[in-house]
Parts: sequence; structure tokens; C-alpha cells
Amino acid sequence: MLELEQAVEKILAAIPALKPETISLAEAHGRIVAETILAATDLPPFDNSAVDGYAVRSKDVAEASAENPVRLQLVGRVAAGEHFAGTLSPGQCIRIFTGSPAPAGADAVVMQEDTRPLATSSSPTEAPAPLPNAGTTSPSPPRSGGEGRGEVAFRVQGEIQFLDSAKPWENIRFHGEDVKRGSLIAETGTRLGAAHIGLLAATGVGQVTVNRRPTVALIATGSELREPVDGTPSTSSASSSPLAHGQIFESNRAALTPLIAATGAIPKSYPIVPDTAEAMRAALARAFAECDIVMTCGGVSVGEMDFVKSAFEELGGQLDFWKVSIKPGRPFVFGRLPVEVQRDETAMILPDAEKTSPSPPRSGGEGRGEVVIRAQGENALDVGCSMLDVRCSQSTREKFLFGLPGNPISAFVTFLLLARPALLRWQGVTDVSLPISLGTLAEPFSNPGNRRHFVRVKLDGTGKVHSAGTQASHILSSLASANGLLDVSPNTTLDVGTTVKIVRWE
Ligand code: AMP
Ligand code: MG
Repeated sequence: MLELEQAVEKILAAIPALKPETISLAEAHGRIVAETILAATDLPPFDNSAVDGYAVRSKDVAEASAENPVRLQLVGRVAAGEHFAGTLSPGQCIRIFTGSPAPAGADAVVMQEDTRPLATSSSPTEAPAPLPNAGTTSPSPPRSGGEGRGEVAFRVQGEIQFLDSAKPWENIRFHGEDVKRGSLIAETGTRLGAAHIGLLAATGVGQVTVNRRPTVALIATGSELREPVDGTPSTSSASSSPLAHGQIFESNRAALTPLIAATGAIPKSYPIVPDTAEAMRAALARAFAECDIVMTCGGVSVGEMDFVKSAFEELGGQLDFWKVSIKPGRPFVFGRLPVEVQRDETAMILPDAEKTSPSPPRSGGEGRGEVVIRAQGENALDVGCSMLDVRCSQSTREKFLFGLPGNPISAFVTFLLLARPALLRWQGVTDVSLPISLGTLAEPFSNPGNRRHFVRVKLDGTGKVHSAGTQASHILSSLASANGLLDVSPNTTLDVGTTVKIVRWE
């Protein structure tokens, strides 16, 4: 039997690097960066105003106050998106707005609230027509409209009174103070959140290269399983139950789907498979043709009705191990299936004898290990290895089986501890550990067994850890009450008051 860490290590060692893809920023939320992204521009790209007000030379208003206002000549107006053509001279100011480029010569902006326009023939806050004598201090004559490429020229527009002083560079946001061109924006392995995406957009990045997301087939197996009904089952009479005696509603696909999606992988649910070898073989063949990973639940035990392992081996799969020393969670299967991907997108499960020497695909093979399957979509073409590797460049790759136990808690816990890290690593995530919270035990926890027990616990708002209820591997209600798992070592009692780490999943 394998220890948990050994099992995770073996699984992660088998996970290939996937070929990245380039997608638009609009699709990038939650994706994992495949190539380090450096800033292509400075941010902000130019010095600009932090407020609506007047750009000035700070020296000109150094003595300004409400009692002793300073008057400056208004020579222009720069709206956001425009820029001023000349240089501000002593005694001049320019109307400016938040985000407008700071005019050359100005080294401060005085807030609108600390100024007062002096009445003139035309209101200084409006954009007046050019005055005939405009530009007496101008290096260039006024342009009509001043709108060439957002350029604004000098126009004498009246006078502004300043009721407050400004320090040098007050209310100016500096070119490059947020991000310097060439600096790191997102490292390889970063999961892109809303804030990263905002930063990328601000630096002009419209596309990102990210790792592909594996598609995960979810297969539930058991002849007792039924699809949950549409609507809510009636509680009024037992006879109205859609279940025959001995049947239960299938619940693992429903619980695992959001856990898979939370990793960034793409869950794909398949129909329930009855306990027969043929049905399981057909279901696995189809799922492996369509997905990168197949995750089954149920049917991996030692009973004569457990067909996952044998069906997988008949398709040419190799089982790496199938027992991990954790509770709940035994048994668990990890397997690899070599598939040959043809140029025409046909994926073929390699017969046992051909695993070391790939050969052209056969058509319609029905014998052991000779099921030819059609791989769909881009997944099938992704070889995930170097072009220098001749065997890989001939389109051989591995797909993976995660055979989870059927008991709902065992399936949930083995997914979190064993499958989740693989789904994350496949997408290029470096730290694949589950989030942890610290808590203090409100009651003792004992594990008299010889396997690590992952106990369902509830961490309350005061940091106290309580049992979430009955711990048997079929009890779903205690999982629903829990918000974490407490890892209790074999033959161990943890006393009240012990500080512990709680493994979280949401
Ligand atoms: P198995 O792993 O197939 O031996 O199943 C172990 C237990 O889990 C049995 O009680 C099954 O009925 C139950 N079980 C198996 N698969 C599921 C499932 N998908 N949803 C709910 N219960 C299941
Ligand atoms: Mg079963």
C-alpha cells in the first residue's frame, strides 16, 4: 500500500507538460500563464493629471491663498485624450482634467475647487473659439480647432484666480510609476484573476499564452445507480419514489463536477454505466477518445462486480497502483493509457504488443487492446512533447485514468488529495496543495487505525474545530456540514486545544 505523498508524487511525475495555446484576454479568466508576460509599455504611458483643475508652474502659485489669490492667464484646455502642443510659460495656466497629459512646463495641478474663474467675455470653462490675438506667448500660431491628433494649441481664454498653493508635482501622476516597460506582469504558472486581467489590458495586452485545460470524463458505475429526478422527489409517500428497492441516486458526478471545474479543468459527465465488463469497456473507450483524463467512481474494489481495472487493462491501459493508505479512500486506481494520435485526428489505443513501436492505425479492431477510437477536438492533437523527440513527434501520448472509490465521501476525499493535484499540474500550476486554515480543537480526535484518517470537521468563526458528525464513508450529511478535513495520523489522539491545520476545498 502506498503512502499519500508517494502516490501524489507518482501521479505528478506522470503528468506531461501540455502545449500552450494563445487566447484573447476576454477568455483568460482563471487560466494559467504559460509564458512569462513582461510589460510592453510604461503605465501610465505619460505624466497626467490626477484631478480636474488647472495645470500650472508651481512657482507661480507658491504664495497663493484665499486671502491673497494669484491670477494666471488661461491659455488652453486639454481634455482626456488630447495633449498640449506648446510649453507653459510663467504666468500661464491650462484647464486640465483627470487623466489628461500634463502640459510641458507645468509641474503641478491645482484642483478646480481651489480656483475661481474671472468673468471674461467668454467663459473660461467653455472651449471658446480662437481669439484673434491669441498666442501672444505661443511658439506656434493657433490652429483652427486645435484638434489635429488631439493636439491643443495656445489660446488666451481669460484669467483664473488661484486660492491655494501647489507643491512641485502635486496632483501629477508620473509616467511609468505603476509599471515600467519590460517589468514582470505575470509569471509562468500564475492563475489569471480579474485584477491581473485588468493590468494586462492596461498595458495593451490583448492576447495571452496559457496552458491548455484538460478535459475530464466523469463516469459513475454501478447497476444500483439512477439519475437524480427532475424536480424534487416527493416526500409524501414512499410508493411515489422513482427508485426501486435496492437502487440509489447517483451523486458522485454531481459532487465532483464543481470540484473539477474549480481546478480549471473541463468536466464532462457521461451516462451511468451498469456493472458489466462490456459496458465498462465501451464507456472507457468512448471517454478516452473524447477526453484527456477519465475519472470513474465505483467499481474499483476487489469484488467480482468491479470492472474498471479489468476493462482498462483490456483497452491497453497500465495500472500504476491501486491502494493508498488513507481513510476514507481505499481503493484508488491510477492508470496510463498510451494513445497514438494520427494526423487526421484519429486516436488509437495502442495494443499491448505495439506499445514500444508505434505502427499505423488499424481499422475496426475488436480484439484485446485493438479498439480504434476517434479522438475529437484539439485535445487529440496535443502531443505535449518536444519536436526533437521522434517518438513523441509521431503523435504518441498518454491519457490517464483516475479510478475513485464509489462511496461518496471516499470519492470526494480521494479527488481532493490525489486527482486535484494532477489536474492543476497538467495546467502548469506549481503549488498544487489544498488551501489550509489553522484552528484549535474544541474536542479530541482519535485515530486508532493504521491509515491516516481525513476527518470531516467544521471550523467555526472563532477558530475552533468541531467534528462535523458521523465519519463513515457513505455519510454525505456530515460532509455537507463540514468545511474542512483534519488529517489525523494512525494510532494518534489529538487533545482538546491542539492547534491543527485544516485542509479546505472551497
Ligand atoms: P463500489 O465502489 O462500486 O463498491 O461502491 C461502494 C458504495 O458506493 C456502494 O454502496 C455504492 O452503491 C456506492 N456508490 C457507488 N457509486 C456511487 C455513486 N456514483 N453515487 C452514489 N453512491 C455510489
Ligand atoms: Mg459498485
